[in-house]
Amino acid sequence: MADDCLFCKIIRREIPAKVAYEDDQVFAFYDIEPAAPVHVLFVPKKHVDSIQSVSEKDGVLSMLADRAVKTAEKLAIDQTGYRLLVNYGPDAGQTVHHLHIHLLGGGKLSHL
Ligand code: AMP
Ligand code: ZN
Repeated sequence: MADDCLFCKIIRREIPAKVAYEDDQVFAFYDIEPAAPVHVLFVPKKHVDSIQSVSEKDGVLSMLADRAVKTAEKLAIDQTGYRLLVNYGPDAGQTVHHLHIHLLGGGKLSHL
């Protein structure tokens, strides 16, 4: 946990968010500025700065992706499709420095 990290504060319930999924290692909540009809962020409860800080052996990315896929199924957006996305660094526009996977779906997405 990082004291001044926005997403750590959301995990600690110091800042409100609409929770989409939670277990002992993963927290997921709806994005405050949705870029799609369904836009959920999946974060590890343990603070990790970015995808660049992830080591292969800790499996955090596969864990987040697994929860995102299961949530997509629960929300029934797997019927029509969805996108999983990670931003890293200024060129990609990463704004919050706590690793997160975006789940976007529920409507036609602009093609990358
Ligand atoms: P990124 O640009 O990949 O770092 O994504 C950060 C995301 O966090 C953006 O899509 C923001 O809209 C979202 N965000 C920022 N503050 C909040 C908040 N308080 N609750 C939910 N989502 C937020
Ligand atoms: Zn954090």
